[in-house]
Amino acid sequence: MKFPKEIQTTLVHSGRKRLYTQGAVNSVVQRASSIVFDTLEAKKEATKNRANGELFYGRRGTLTHFSLQEAMCELEEGAGCYLYPCGTAAITNAILAFVKTGDHILLTEGAYEPTQEFCNHILQDLGVETTYFPVMIGEHIAQQIKPNTKVVFLEAPSSVTMEVHDIPAIVKAVRKVNPEIVIMIDNSWSGGVFFKALQHDIDISIQSGTKYLVGHSDAMIGTAVANERCWPQLRERSYLMGQMCDADTAYVTARGLRTLAVRLKQHQESSLKVAQWLAKHPLVDRVNHPALANSVGHKFFKRDFLGHSGLFSFILKERLSDAQLAEFLDEFQLFSMAYSWGGFESLILANQPEDIAAIRPVSGVDFKGTLVRIHIGFENIDDLIADLEAGLNRININKNKITALQSLV
Ligand SMILES: *Cc1c(COP(=O)(O)O)cnc(C)c1O
Repeated sequence: MKFPKEIQTTLVHSGRKRLYTQGAVNSVVQRASSIVFDTLEAKKEATKNRANGELFYGRRGTLTHFSLQEAMCELEEGAGCYLYPCGTAAITNAILAFVKTGDHILLTEGAYEPTQEFCNHILQDLGVETTYFPVMIGEHIAQQIKPNTKVVFLEAPSSVTMEVHDIPAIVKAVRKVNPEIVIMIDNSWSGGVFFKALQHDIDISIQSGTKYLVGHSDAMIGTAVANERCWPQLRERSYLMGQMCDADTAYVTARGLRTLAVRLKQHQESSLKVAQWLAKHPLVDRVNHPALANSVGHKFFKRDFLGHSGLFSFILKERLSDAQLAEFLDEFQLFSMAYSWGGFESLILANQPEDIAAIRPVSGVDFKGTLVRIHIGFENIDDLIADLEAGLNRININKNKITALQSLV
């Protein structure tokens, strides 16, 4: 898979004009609530241009925020980028900006669990109805659109199970029924680098910048890059919801952008090698990695994505007992057990099939074994494979059978 090389230059140079850097390499960290106006005329001018990158009040952003926003717009080819305190805030506020009581939204059943929970509880209480659609729905999404459908929300690949939608087919079908519908995508996995959402006629590309943009597991931020049509409404409504992030976080996110291409390149190379190794392991039933030929939606991934990052999952042939899971997970030397991903370190988490079925409200799951999700970081690849091999060797399959037999007695 070719790495999009023009993006490498964009990531290094975007958002670094002299006003923002003051002659340094990186943007300044301008921490501010109040902005001081020297004259009445200056205050009038700032008020007039408060939404267009003029210093006005801290909640509208400072030079540090403007620098990051410009860089994100260049990266994701949008008209504007709103910054939120985390990815979840970006998702929920982007949806809220475009719905009112009585409306309807369509949400992929592969969506990140808190996105689903937000729709099931908060939107539900506000009188906004959510219909889940199967990840592989394609053009058949047309039949799910109602006269009051305002938002279609995608996520590719799906959280945890990693299937990839036929995005162009979905977008085309939605536009044909009602071009006003706002199409959004949770684009965190691609870092905004490997999937060019707005080029695919998606209106808003959302990222948990906590993951690859920050890249070091030490800050939280959400980004939403919108096209010309949706930017003013997204911006003004998010502003009224009091959404913003602090200047220091904006700074570390912009700094993360400078190395995003090289980091993703390594995540890409290492994760593919580990995925290919796992696919041959006798305890592994299947590997859900979009770059592997038998991963669901692989042909759409190959057609529409420019590359892949470091997060994927695999399913074991057996459902591990709690004791087996503990033996497997507790002793890893390099893989840490933690939520989130996107940093320089390797992570591992396991889910039982019923846990996944609970967040696949339409289709459930078609597997019986334990699912393991891993994020491949920058450790030496042979060391990572050795750690996984030792982990898989700790799974004593016979023990499971013995326990099962004992429970029968
Ligand atoms: C982590 C994650 C989020 C939420 O991001 P936070 O910054 O943790 O709020 C949203 N979508 C996906 C796909 C994620 O993995």
